Amino acid sequence: MSESKDFLRVIVEEDLKSGKYEKVVTRFPPEPNGFPHIGHAKSICINFGIASDYKGLCNLRMDDTNPTTEETKYVEALKDAVQWLGFNWNDNVRYTSDYFPKLYNYAKELIKKGKAYIDSASEEEIRELRGTVTQAGSRSKYANRSIEENLELFEKMKNGEFKEGEHILRAKIDMSSANMQLRDPLLYRIRHSHHHRTGDEWCIYPMYDFAHCLSDYIEGITHSICTLEFENNRAIYDWVLDTLELEKPRPYQHEFARLGINYTVMSKRKLLELVNTHRVSGWDDPRMPTIAGYKRRGYTPESILNFCDQIGIAKANSMVDVSQLEFCIRDDLNTKVPRVLAVLDPIKVTIENYEGSEEINAPYYPYDVPKEGSRKVPFSKELYIERDDFSENPPKGFYRLTPEQPVRLRHGYIISCKEVIKDSNGNVTEIKAEYYPNSKSGSDTSGIKVKSAIQWVDAKSARKIEVRLYDRLYSSETPENVEDLNPHSLTIIKDALVEQAVILERPDERFQFERLGYFYTDPVDYTSENPVFNKIVGLKDSWAKKKTPEKKAEAKTTPKKEVIHGEAEAMSEVQQILFNKYTDELKLNAEVSNILARDEKLSSFYEEALQELNSPVSLANIVANEVAKELKESTDIKFTAIQIAQLIKMLDEETISNKIAKQVFEEMAKSGENPNKIVEDKGLVQISDPAVILPIIEDVIAKNPDNLEKFKSGNTKLSGFFVGQVLKATGGKANPKVVNQLVAKALNS
Ligand code: ATP
Ligand code: MG
Repeated sequence: MSESKDFLRVIVEEDLKSGKYEKVVTRFPPEPNGFPHIGHAKSICINFGIASDYKGLCNLRMDDTNPTTEETKYVEALKDAVQWLGFNWNDNVRYTSDYFPKLYNYAKELIKKGKAYIDSASEEEIRELRGTVTQAGSRSKYANRSIEENLELFEKMKNGEFKEGEHILRAKIDMSSANMQLRDPLLYRIRHSHHHRTGDEWCIYPMYDFAHCLSDYIEGITHSICTLEFENNRAIYDWVLDTLELEKPRPYQHEFARLGINYTVMSKRKLLELVNTHRVSGWDDPRMPTIAGYKRRGYTPESILNFCDQIGIAKANSMVDVSQLEFCIRDDLNTKVPRVLAVLDPIKVTIENYEGSEEINAPYYPYDVPKEGSRKVPFSKELYIERDDFSENPPKGFYRLTPEQPVRLRHGYIISCKEVIKDSNGNVTEIKAEYYPNSKSGSDTSGIKVKSAIQWVDAKSARKIEVRLYDRLYSSETPENVEDLNPHSLTIIKDALVEQAVILERPDERFQFERLGYFYTDPVDYTSENPVFNKIVGLKDSWAKKKTPEKKAEAKTTPKKEVIHGEAEAMSEVQQILFNKYTDELKLNAEVSNILARDEKLSSFYEEALQELNSPVSLANIVANEVAKELKESTDIKFTAIQIAQLIKMLDEETISNKIAKQVFEEMAKSGENPNKIVEDKGLVQISDPAVILPIIEDVIAKNPDNLEKFKSGNTKLSGFFVGQVLKATGGKANPKVVNQLVAKALNS
């Protein structure tokens, strides 16, 4: 378990301690409509990880409620991914479709309680009646059907007596709820399609909001962990379970931030499109961000687990840098895999003063890796080296072979160039060289200084291999569609060369080809006639430095979404100390603490304001939001930390309202004027005096007799209307708390 506990583990521990549950039971509930991706890996690590940390159980459940998009091959891919990552699910794989009979009965229960009804309105009517975010919806005329009629229609729906879209089952909750999800959500719909498991047995299918909470309940799940976009669905989750009055204990939903990675798309829909349009060779194409893709590319499960551990679990969405994932695999392979010699773009070297042949003993691992093993590397007169490692007219700082500069052959001798042979086009075809017999690696007495050692292979014994070089699938940091694909994401080299031991001894499946990167024997296409190696990752981050001129230009013109490292990067020691102080002592929430602690400018601004005014929470909020925004947009800000403290003081003392504070802040940002002066000059002081406010209220009421009538006859929501009118009449200067109280009194008198 990682040292610092994430918020989910904190909740789980509390629930176990308080005795709410005896054993934690989680689940990973994918919809089998695509191959799982690295985002799913995060969810798998969380659900299975928590179960294992607290000696609980984790179910693998196929959320197969949509017959039109689901397939058995996706089920297999999901099982494979979980197992490959090293987790075991509890018992058999579960399927929501196994619960269809139970779910159907629960739906009937809701109907019997008068809490669900069959709506026969058209899709369009339903949409219209739903209202908008600012406007309440209204209920369909079908909502008045009797329980008997609803039960009968529901049964007929199940029996296949209707066409798709003719009727739906809806929960009867609240058509004017501010949470749009609660406006009588859809529970069941008709689908005359073949289901991959239940065949044609059902032609009504439950919706996620109905099926998910009940499946959790049926399985005895305790913590139903999902991603943030389901936050608004939590209310339905609770409503269904509570309305059915199910026996306790019941599960509760908790949300975490979904993983996003730059240069990567992570929606199954978009990944499916890449497969269907043959932009990639399949779901397991080594460039795909799917578990199957990483697996085929040569990533280890450990590297993915490490990555998931490093990025942590947060409550705010953020973007992780893809180089962090690349770092994790590099880091894992560094101490694990044998190091061997390969040449991707060979150029011939003939050593004119060497006769015969020999075998050089070379260890597979460097001295600082605690692994044993070595092989014999054949050496003779004809060799190949990397074309790049020779330069006739070397640029400054070129440390490898040139006509004037000798170089060491890794594990072998030092050679120098004697003659360069070219074809009629001037391309180098061969290098004639000499070796120094007393320069052999490990027993060098030559005294010759070289600046580097390069890889090479013996011409006679080397094996030809196919090498597939992969680069990022997208060249845009925030890819949207196929136009953002990187046209150079795959390069195939058919005639690379590798020392024979790699093929004959196969000491491993993964290798470091020295100076080139990490490579993996392709699990699908590798044969002894045509050995294929996938490049897993380079030895260092090639994207960090190498920016082509086009890329630089692109970086200037295209606005980029910001990559927030909030979740990704570990904090420095100082940042961590600040963060702890903010959360523990000053009681700021984690998100605000995170923003402040990670930004030195913000934290020092905040600390300075705190010196002036002891109001940690209000100050933190304005610094992390308004001030941060201002700092981002301009380099020299006009206001000081002390002025911000003065502004917050007026707010705390209710001299000004929140709304006015914002207005004053904007003015300060523009002019640098003192907040007190702005408030005074513009007469923005908050009005809390009832003697001033009451006449305004009376005036508003007098002008709106219709609404007063409606209020009196039960439409209590209208008090909000009167409050709004009063605030407006005072130009936002009236104290909302006081107005609320006075309006309530006036309306009810
Ligand atoms: P996508 O939107 O990529 O198609 P999804 O959310 O529809 O994915 P599901 O099969 O429904 O995929 O998800 C299974 C589980 O994996 C869910 O609990 C979901 O919250 C989680 N999950 C999916 N994508 C991510 C992600 N990017 N980061 C973390 N968890 C994820
Ligand atoms: Mg989905």
